[in-house]
Amino acid sequence: MSELRYDPVRKTWVIIATERGMRPTHIQRPETPLHAVSRAVCPFCPGNEGRTPPEILAIRNPGTQPNSPGWKVRVIPNKFPALTIESPQKRYGKGIYDVVSGFGAHEVIVETPNDQEQMADFTIAHMRDVFSVFRDRLADLMKDHRFRYIMIFKNYGSEAGATLCHSHSQIIAIPVTPSLVTVELNSVRDYYMRKERCMMCDIIHQELEDGERIVINEERFVVFAPFASSFPFELRIAPKTHNHDFSVLDEDHLQHFAAVVKETLLRLRKVLNDPPYNFILHTAPPVTRRPGKPEYWTSISSDYHWHLELIPRMTMIAGFEWGTGFQINPTSPEDAARFLREAEI
Ligand SMILES: [Zn+2]
Ligand SMILES: [Zn+2]
Repeated sequence: MSELRYDPVRKTWVIIATERGMRPTHIQRPETPLHAVSRAVCPFCPGNEGRTPPEILAIRNPGTQPNSPGWKVRVIPNKFPALTIESPQKRYGKGIYDVVSGFGAHEVIVETPNDQEQMADFTIAHMRDVFSVFRDRLADLMKDHRFRYIMIFKNYGSEAGATLCHSHSQIIAIPVTPSLVTVELNSVRDYYMRKERCMMCDIIHQELEDGERIVINEERFVVFAPFASSFPFELRIAPKTHNHDFSVLDEDHLQHFAAVVKETLLRLRKVLNDPPYNFILHTAPPVTRRPGKPEYWTSISSDYHWHLELIPRMTMIAGFEWGTGFQINPTSPEDAARFLREAEI
């Protein structure tokens, strides 16, 4: 059974997922290439629904049965979960250490039945279906007040952590707030308390005014390279109108978001020759009352602004970066934005 342990020195949580690691020889080294699995054995290919746990949600053609072919997007529990919903949630101390039992949810969103297409190839309508599934799973998991955070992310390419080629993304719901998320939540709240303005709204306003880090400026969304990008070609995709919560996204924004993500992925593919990447959805956590912190979430709907973080994995994280926590980025965000803007797609 897995557990969450708190590192009091670094102020960060880790998941010790013993079911996954097993023996040293079973731990996959990062350079292990993606093994191409044939359609006969790929658990995400149509016809192999029996190789996965029963589906949680699917967008299906009319008249087709759950756990059989005929789906367009399919959500299933992860077969090798880092956390499980069955484990009871326990919080306890072990001397100076803090432990939370491995309670959580770990789901896989199989984005397409077609193993030959990657996300950048999806039609905008299909992309919208995928993001509507993100939204609906998020809304459902947010009802469970034991979860402190729900993270939706995608690993594309083995260098980005994918273990199967068939296009998919993942959801992990956890019983603690991750430290990176805590930093982000606290800094935007402090900013709001001082200025009564949303930090991301201010950033978007300034980026649109400066223009040099803008990749796409469309009606509802903006795509830009952050001023202090840690990684080459790192991008943010954010709605221009303030909204803190992806789980309540309306159909109009969903449609525009699908179009903008597709265009961004096509530009990245063109400029960086189909790079591995991670994307992470940053959205407001479920608002649950915290012991001793009655004021904790009172401004979240005004101070937090949801966005997608997209990071092509072009550089290795080496000793200096591990030691200092800061990255050496060989490409300025201004150059990255210009290359992406000027790419012919
Ligand atoms: Zn497959
Ligand atoms: Zn905002």
